[in-house]
Amino acid sequence: MGTPRVGTHYPRSVGEFQAWFRSDADCLDYLEWLRWPSGFVCPGCRQSAGWRLGDRRFMCSGCGDRTSVTAGTIFDRTRTPLTVWFNVCWLFATGKDGISALSLRRTLEIGSYQTAWAMLHRLRSVLVRPGRERLVGTVEVDETYIGGLEEGLPGGRARGKKVLTGIAVEIREPKGYGRCRMMPLGDASAASLHPFVTGHVEPGATVITDAWQGYHGLEKLGYVHDRRSQRAARARGEDPGELLPAVHRVASLVKRWLLGTHRGSVDEAHLPSYLNEFVFRFNRRRSRSRGMVFYRVLELAVAHDPVRYTDLIVRRRPRKKPPKPPPARGHPPSRDRPPADRPWRRLQLASSG
Ligand SMILES: [Zn+2]
Repeated sequence: MGTPRVGTHYPRSVGEFQAWFRSDADCLDYLEWLRWPSGFVCPGCRQSAGWRLGDRRFMCSGCGDRTSVTAGTIFDRTRTPLTVWFNVCWLFATGKDGISALSLRRTLEIGSYQTAWAMLHRLRSVLVRPGRERLVGTVEVDETYIGGLEEGLPGGRARGKKVLTGIAVEIREPKGYGRCRMMPLGDASAASLHPFVTGHVEPGATVITDAWQGYHGLEKLGYVHDRRSQRAARARGEDPGELLPAVHRVASLVKRWLLGTHRGSVDEAHLPSYLNEFVFRFNRRRSRSRGMVFYRVLELAVAHDPVRYTDLIVRRRPRKKPPKPPPARGHPPSRDRPPADRPWRRLQLASSG
């Protein structure tokens, strides 16, 4: 659909947001346009022919299945009104540092902390786009310990474990940082560090690390390896802590964010989700419009499979899912779709059934 435009494809302000999404029907129109930009596609048989039923569901003319725009997405069978979901997305996306479950519950008067907590976790779980590009150019890589305070769901806080976390940051010339990536590591061995590098950095890149033996062998994996020895730095009279300034900067930012927005109440099992959220925010820190970030979150949310509450509470490791091919596009536009300035707004007259 080309580059999304502010004021047309996503709201430019909170006023516009409120005016656009007054009812669940408004939200359904928007989700429908995001999920099926060229018209309804049956999630079962992938055919793009069907019609709208009176209850806002769709009937596939290929296989006869009935489906809704939220079925098979993270909004599947939600008991929360879509207008509330959209408000959560808006606060999540437009707040520079995001929002905690506690403030979300207070701000939107959501029934329980668990509901607010689960909504935020469902949003976090969609942020890693399948097939996203790896880091390129010159990339600093290091590992650091993150975490320490733990909060059980029923309340109460105990000492938690610190989690060894890999950090990779693109270096921009002459100065500044590009994108970053973070992931918990089993340990600091080559068996953990090499997959972290290959999973997050494009071969051919220059990888800057310290002299730790776990990074030995990166050349054989297709990288230009720039090893910086702390001992050599000390011998030169330099501060060895400044050998990898980008990863140290990002590490201090993520620790500050966990202590600030989330008051340190992040348990080990959910740390990967918070790291994904931090990376998503960091990599969009220069986005001119926060509405654009809102659009991106919803776009990912309608492309993501449902996330069950039990998956959120018992998950110990991030789910590893094979990337899926992008949804089929390019079939003839449906007549349901108005060519209006706001393309997602369905013409009420066009509905059948
Ligand atoms: Zn079908």
